[in-house]
Amino acid sequence: MKVPGPHPLAASRPWDRPAPELATPVLRLRELDRKELRAWFTALGEPAFRGDQVFEGLQRHGWTSWDQFSQVSKDLRARLSPASDISVPVITESISSSDGSTKHAFRLADGQQVEGVYMPYARRTTLCLSSQVGCAMGCTFCATGLMGIVRNLSAGEIVGQVVAMLNAHPAEGGAGVNLVFMGMGEPLHNLDHVMKAFHILTDPAGLGLSPRRITLSTSGLVSGIERLGGYAKRPRLALSLNATTDDYRSRIMPVNKVWNLEALADALLHFPLDKSERITLEYVLLQGVTDSLEDGRRLARFAQRFPSKINLIPFNPHEGSGFEPPTEARIGELCQLLAQAGLTVSVRRSRGQDVAGACGQLVRGPRKH
Ligand code: SF4
Repeated sequence: MKVPGPHPLAASRPWDRPAPELATPVLRLRELDRKELRAWFTALGEPAFRGDQVFEGLQRHGWTSWDQFSQVSKDLRARLSPASDISVPVITESISSSDGSTKHAFRLADGQQVEGVYMPYARRTTLCLSSQVGCAMGCTFCATGLMGIVRNLSAGEIVGQVVAMLNAHPAEGGAGVNLVFMGMGEPLHNLDHVMKAFHILTDPAGLGLSPRRITLSTSGLVSGIERLGGYAKRPRLALSLNATTDDYRSRIMPVNKVWNLEALADALLHFPLDKSERITLEYVLLQGVTDSLEDGRRLARFAQRFPSKINLIPFNPHEGSGFEPPTEARIGELCQLLAQAGLTVSVRRSRGQDVAGACGQLVRGPRKH
């Protein structure tokens, strides 16, 4: 297996620069939280409670046409319609997997595309969301990383992915929904919009999702981890670790050149956790590369430094990756080793593998199969 050389992104640090934003000529109401909607209606000379009504319609009911807002007078709807946009990202293609997952391709207002994955489980549904078009982090194992960064998603576009997927799968309500920011983009590189979306999605007047059911996965952007720790109410944190030595991690994840494993462990040790909260460590197992027993021992030592739980993720082979998944025997040995070290470990079988919707496989536009 050929190991790639040091990545030029480590020197240029594109994640230090703000990503471009959505340019929009019209007021997009799905970008606004409830307080902002109340203020907008007040400025129009309408009672503030109209803002509550519209927020509930947009977020809890997922309405996308003014015709659905029957509690708002026809006259007012006629005024609002040309002055605002209440659309959600348009699902242009949906590919279902044999395991029940569906990968959706979304077209955004400016024609860009992102993808999200709907994953139904017995007692809950998990939605995997994108936070950016493309990604600045350049992880070499990731199809999205090959695109580079195009722009941030706005808060309304992030929320809109949730609304669009719940509208497409109407049997699922808000109560049993988990969200994971594990799609396209580094969510900590777009933290302001991700946190605004989090604020909207957890509002009890909207979908009222539990903050504990929302997880943000980072590649190890320590400046972002520190910022996230400053929020009183925030998503749970997961780290896409994937390597146990700096040498290898820097080769596959350029951000490690800037914040190495020691800096990461220090940031995670100081990350303010709630009682019983733990940081999830995601570790992709690549046969002959990251799945040795020595890797397991180093992983255990890293994970023991702060409250954590480990997700082992057998690699999803995709075209041209050059990597292979681990054997079942090795997965078992690693689980045993980590459990004996007193760690909580689970094996995450990525959903949606046959539709290229698993972690590290999201790219712009649906794949052809
Ligand atoms: S793995 Fe995540 S952070 Fe790395 S390039 Fe892909 S989308 Fe970006």
